[in-house]
Amino acid sequence: MEKNTPAIYTAPWVLPIVGQPIRHGAIAIKDGRIEAVGPAAEIRAAYFGREVVDCRGVLLPALINAHIHLELSHLSDVSRPAAGQPMCSWIADLIRSRNNCELTAQEKEHCRQRILLDQYHAGVILLADIGNEQYSVDSQSFHLPFILHFQEFLAPTKNATDAAALILAGLPDTIAATAHAPYSTTPELFRILKDRARRLGKIFPVHVAESIDEIEFLRFATGSFREFLGGLGAWDGAFSQVENNGSGTVKYLHQLDVLDPMTLCVHCVHVDESEVELLVEKGAHVCLCPGSNRFLRVGMAPIELLLRYGLLPAIGTDSISSNETLDIWGEMRILREEHPDVEPAKILEMATLGGALALHCDGDFGSLAPSRRAIFLEVDDERWAHVDSEEILIDTLTKGGRPRVVSWVDAAGAVISHMAGE
Ligand SMILES: [Zn+2]
Repeated sequence: MEKNTPAIYTAPWVLPIVGQPIRHGAIAIKDGRIEAVGPAAEIRAAYFGREVVDCRGVLLPALINAHIHLELSHLSDVSRPAAGQPMCSWIADLIRSRNNCELTAQEKEHCRQRILLDQYHAGVILLADIGNEQYSVDSQSFHLPFILHFQEFLAPTKNATDAAALILAGLPDTIAATAHAPYSTTPELFRILKDRARRLGKIFPVHVAESIDEIEFLRFATGSFREFLGGLGAWDGAFSQVENNGSGTVKYLHQLDVLDPMTLCVHCVHVDESEVELLVEKGAHVCLCPGSNRFLRVGMAPIELLLRYGLLPAIGTDSISSNETLDIWGEMRILREEHPDVEPAKILEMATLGGALALHCDGDFGSLAPSRRAIFLEVDDERWAHVDSEEILIDTLTKGGRPRVVSWVDAAGAVISHMAGE
């Protein structure tokens, strides 16, 4: 088929995400965009004469991984913290592994490329990648997934804040910059970074309320994070203005005027109901990282509460140094296990539309609807072609881990198939 030839793709199941699943559905595409989605008979009649491609599997939007650190791709051997150990014991291990790593730049790049290729095979179209090392966009040897890269800054002292501000002043406007976390970045630098992101219209992803120790640190400037910073020689009282403010992370960020629809709060494990209300009021987004939270033993995000307030979270894998695997299908499975009362369809919505909304690209990705980019997934498993119940289909899709075959259907009309584990 010629590139951009108008066509119709039919399938036993089409999952638009923004509408009900369609048994024997079809998608009409034109000029690289989706033109219409509906029952196959209707679409065939409406676009009579168009070339028809019959797919065997389930058609659904590509997945979005809304939080990853590609620069840590070579650090898969950082140990899981023992039960009862604070999160900063893992951070100390990570820093040690990073400093002691003897791999060459080429070997590290190979690890990064291997993870990128795996994301592609899993059907991920877009990654939000956070890192603090120099980054080259030219190194990607294949066209997917798209990467939104954010240069991360952290500075726990006044001197480090001044140094970071100097670097930021010279940073090209094309580079998106963000803060690491409230326990590693002074309030002053948080404000500078958010002001810059706001001026440039950039998304602002930040680690929020990942561990309970973070809340203690923000409330009282005590606990494991205070000790950790002291041990690094990185405590000079630059956080003293937050002492005794008595609030959790979300309220703290609100006090710094960081929350708005461009802010993506990653983790949100330890947030209370009033903070969820605040997130909704400010229009901030949330990204869940259930596999990383399990690995680091920091707890589970209050997903039922988030959903009750109408938030649709995104899903991220975080890095390979804090997760067993980097697989959004696996993250959906963990969410199913840990939150059995959450509708499976809602979890699939998080992995697709949730990510698109959080990264402000829902006009292109996250759903099968008119005007979205005509690049989506065909998940092929012979069992599903004969499933007559949408409940069983979505139950299987969300709890079974990565399907046996995930194929890309792209706007050029070429169907590229990849076996899982290829
Ligand atoms: Zn992270």
